[in-house]
Amino acid sequence: MKLVFATNNKNKLKEVKALMPSHIQLLSLTDINCHDEIPETSNTIEGNALIKANFVKENYGFNCFADDTGLEVESLNNEPGVFSARYAGPENNSEANMQKLLSKLKEKQNRNAQFKTVIALTLPESHQLFTGICEGEITKEKRGGDGFGYDPIFQPKGFEKTFAEMTLEQKSEIGHRGKAVRMLIEFLS
Ligand code: IMP
Repeated sequence: MKLVFATNNKNKLKEVKALMPSHIQLLSLTDINCHDEIPETSNTIEGNALIKANFVKENYGFNCFADDTGLEVESLNNEPGVFSARYAGPENNSEANMQKLLSKLKEKQNRNAQFKTVIALTLPESHQLFTGICEGEITKEKRGGDGFGYDPIFQPKGFEKTFAEMTLEQKSEIGHRGKAVRMLIEFLS
């Protein structure tokens, strides 16, 4: 079965491909020659996941799923949330995003945060949403060289390492995207 994952983010593709059973052939946007900038105009994580998945279904005719992820920080009223990619500006610069978050949390005692991934799967007449959450806290400084995005400053609950200090397998096992992908796989089977 061919299934498009509406992303060109190499890190996300790697994480998701590692979990997919062999009977599902995962295609990226590049694989289907989709080079459009898909607008993410919703003010919710769910809404943006759905926009991306529907865009591929309507314009390219493939079965498709898309994910959208936000980092929600308790003491900042769940900021940056749906604006996680553009927190420090429109360029989606992870370094600048992390610096902004660290500086906003400088005086805060409560550093609790959670990653939330919503996967939207398009179906012929409807859609299905799968949500994966990983709780943890924002560290005081960056640690680790793996992963992407906010991984160097996110330490999942019950662990001494940040996501950027973990292997891909460890991150997937406990992480937000891994949880949502496993729900998707269970649904598909
Ligand atoms: P999006 O889902 O690609 O829109 O991601 C929103 C923002 O969160 C971007 O800045 C990503 O780099 C970041 N992000 C998404 N997933 C992860 C993750 O698994 N770890 C760390 N940062 C992430």
